[in-house]
Amino acid sequence: MSKMAWKDVDKTKIFNFCESYIRFLNNSKTERLCTQTIKKIIESNDYKCICEFDSLKSGDKVYKINRDKSIIMAKIGDEMPQNGMNIIASHIDSPRLDLKPVPLYEDSEFALFKTHYYGGIKKYQWMSIPLSLIGVVIKENGEKINISIGEDESDPVFTITDLLPHLAQDQMSKKVSELFTGEDLNVLIGSLPSDEEKDAVKDNILKLLEAKYGICEEDFISSELELVPSFKAKNVGFDSSFVGSYGQDDRICAYTSLIAMIDASKTTKTTVCYFADKEEIGSMGNTGTKSMFFESFLASLINLTKENYSDIDLKNAFEKSMCLSADVTVAFDPNYKNVCEPLNSAYAGGGVCMSKYTGSRGKSSTSDANAEFVAKVRGIFNRNNVKWQIAELGKVDQGGGGTVAQYIANLNIDTLDCGVPILAMHSPFEVSSKLDVYMAYLGYKAFFEA
Ligand code: MN
Ligand code: MN
Repeated sequence: MSKMAWKDVDKTKIFNFCESYIRFLNNSKTERLCTQTIKKIIESNDYKCICEFDSLKSGDKVYKINRDKSIIMAKIGDEMPQNGMNIIASHIDSPRLDLKPVPLYEDSEFALFKTHYYGGIKKYQWMSIPLSLIGVVIKENGEKINISIGEDESDPVFTITDLLPHLAQDQMSKKVSELFTGEDLNVLIGSLPSDEEKDAVKDNILKLLEAKYGICEEDFISSELELVPSFKAKNVGFDSSFVGSYGQDDRICAYTSLIAMIDASKTTKTTVCYFADKEEIGSMGNTGTKSMFFESFLASLINLTKENYSDIDLKNAFEKSMCLSADVTVAFDPNYKNVCEPLNSAYAGGGVCMSKYTGSRGKSSTSDANAEFVAKVRGIFNRNNVKWQIAELGKVDQGGGGTVAQYIANLNIDTLDCGVPILAMHSPFEVSSKLDVYMAYLGYKAFFEA
């Protein structure tokens, strides 16, 4: 365990590492953008699409993208994949507001978008902040139109207007959970009228969209447009010891495992780094961890390194593999001490955090890693001077949550949750300690090299 870990680390190294991390965050606010950013980084490190290979040998570096929203990469080690792989899995989707399929309407001579929130949010945190609109519109003919408004300094932004305190007497007497309903999250997008008689403001917006993007109202039906906070990732504190940003859950573990994978030089085992979508809504769907994509990719690795691939090769490989489920955990917050039990809490600045289990109530919905595997990871970290800690996700019966660990463990792979503690998790501005960012990187690198 390492309280006050800051006292014996190289601060310059840590701060430099986090400069790059902040740039990564600013270029990766959606799962699609994050996939593109990761692709760019790994291609410049000689990773190639697995589709270019007829066979694979030690040292080969490959990746595969799943529907533009998830990406997986692998490096064939001295040992072939069927002898077991060292895997790290994180997720690159974050809580946000999605546009509804029919989003656009006019009310009181304003144009607005209706939204449907994605993942666990406290709705009030999304009021009265600048929002960017990022995503794709797919035309009927398959043409893809990329949209990003609000990220450039000169761009306009969008916002959901909150009620002034002067007239909020009724509102303020409500419970916080009832303050806003899902249907209250309507985004202000314009007020200029066209020459139409009816719904002139809505009509004007449609004309602008047609002129700028060539899209019509029906095109929203086949779009994925996400509203995310417009503000950039920043250093936090007089001493800049924290990073504050939207989407650190879980791009903090995605970035640190990505760079660890690239930097890991002495890899005996075949190493795999997976960046999944849809974790925040239960890892469902064909881009989430529960989909066959993960298994299929690992099967391809074996198939391309071995004659006469059979299903049992993959199953045996699972049994010999090990995985870190790289996801964030709650950091002990002096403002909210009573939701955590101090002995079993993660501290921002205490190092990368293992969680033997997550879940809720009586360890419901968690994989609960084997003690033998926890010991193995602990040994790897200790031998490599990684500052680490272990924690539960809050007090027993206080609430809870889950990660992708359970789905990977279900494949018969030894899996342990291991990630970075976060303050204000799932808020538009999550906070992490730079020390923990760096220790996650060191820990993941040691794991890949184990
Ligand atoms: Mn997460
Ligand atoms: Mn989350």
